[in-house]
Amino acid sequence: MKIAIRSIKGKLFVWFFAFSSVLLIILGFSLYHKFKETIFSSVDNALHSKLQILKGLLHEEHDSIEFELDEVVLGEYSIPRSGHYYKIIMNGEVEFISESLVDDDFDLASGRLESYDEELMEKIYTSTGPADEPIRVLQHDFEFLNIPTSVFVAESISENLSMLNSIKLFFFIITPSSIFILGIVGLLIAEQSLKPLKKFSSAIETITHKTLSKRILSAVEAEELRSLADSFNAMLDRLQNAFDAEKRLVADASHELKTPLSVIKAQCEVLLQKDRAKEEYIEAFETIKHSVESLNKLLNDLMSLSRLDSGILSAADFEIVPVNDCIKNAIHLVKVLAEEKNIHISIDTKENITIPGNKDRITEALLNIIENAVRYNKTGGSVEVSAFKDNTRAEITIKDTGIGIKNNDLKKIFERFYRADASRSTEGTGLGLSIADTIVKAHSGSISVKSKPGEGSSFVITLPSGNTG
Ligand code: ADP
Repeated sequence: MKIAIRSIKGKLFVWFFAFSSVLLIILGFSLYHKFKETIFSSVDNALHSKLQILKGLLHEEHDSIEFELDEVVLGEYSIPRSGHYYKIIMNGEVEFISESLVDDDFDLASGRLESYDEELMEKIYTSTGPADEPIRVLQHDFEFLNIPTSVFVAESISENLSMLNSIKLFFFIITPSSIFILGIVGLLIAEQSLKPLKKFSSAIETITHKTLSKRILSAVEAEELRSLADSFNAMLDRLQNAFDAEKRLVADASHELKTPLSVIKAQCEVLLQKDRAKEEYIEAFETIKHSVESLNKLLNDLMSLSRLDSGILSAADFEIVPVNDCIKNAIHLVKVLAEEKNIHISIDTKENITIPGNKDRITEALLNIIENAVRYNKTGGSVEVSAFKDNTRAEITIKDTGIGIKNNDLKKIFERFYRADASRSTEGTGLGLSIADTIVKAHSGSISVKSKPGEGSSFVITLPSGNTG
């Protein structure tokens, strides 16, 4: 069964715990084996030196082989079951044997063969001694005066084994308790490491739409969370800007709606006060109609903006747009206004200019700019619309002979609801250019303006040509 650990703390703890447990177990095992190896090799070394001594005690005397009874042999080897034994077999017969063995037939090489060195003719056994104790036996086969000889030296290893057992016990106690302690330490480390994250999340929790200006940098201590905090703060900046823009739009829109509504209300009140002459009614209704038209235009512009803000324009839906058609459609829509002001509109374009985009929206952007060129023009003035395209871009220029725009206003005319003082007397919502700008930007293009007050303005729309090569 697979148990999914969802919390970072849990995962950190499990990894830390698993890793340290495996590490401790491996460490324990290898240390124990190292101890075991060292202990047995020191026993084997002792057996080797004793074997050399015993071999040195063998000598020939009066045609027979004698074994010199040195004090070594008389010492620990003479005490029954002392834990130190030897046996010398020549020609298959037991020739010399330590008194400690007690029984002459006791077989020292009866246990488990631990190693065999063919070159040195040495075998090492672990076996059971005459006192039922564990013993280590070294057997060496050689020829003494051409007689096949085997010397067995043995030592009790009960002390060594009990020492090894103590070490084993130590590891059995130490390893689990270390794992337990490491587990607790792991938990504490996980808890401690995640504290900044908790702080971070509580800092985020305090941010609401009312406290969008708050930033969370001050709460972040951990270096790793800095970039997260930076991205989060940048997101808050964007949100706050959007929020502020939205608020401004609502406030400005309400303000703009107020004027025509108050005009309508005032006209109705005047009409309702008493009976009026027919002409007065007509005049009042004309004013009301005019206000309703402004309201209608304002609402249409607001809806356009809101649609554009919601990202209705996506490059994925773009089609091939014939720029000339858009220009002609836009000019057709301002024809009446242009005729009223006796303004001549000329077109200078090549027939086949196309760009990737949305035809209706590009027409809307052009209409807003051409309509301005007519509206803010002098009676009898002119508007020139030209377009060209090269490999990288298409440019549409709308040049008028109108009132022009002051330098100070030039920077602001694309802002929502901005209207220069000079144009206050004319109809308008202050949204036309920001709609055009949003549309052009959604097509990855830009709008630039050059203007001289009293002489005229020139708006240039630059759009990507869509040529990939
Ligand atoms: P409006 O509805 O007022 O025309 P716009 O966003 O279209 O709103 O334009 C913003 C302001 O920019 C206008 O109020 C006007 O002052 C100025 N403007 C725009 N186009 C022209 C132009 N061709 N000539 C002079 N002023 C212009």
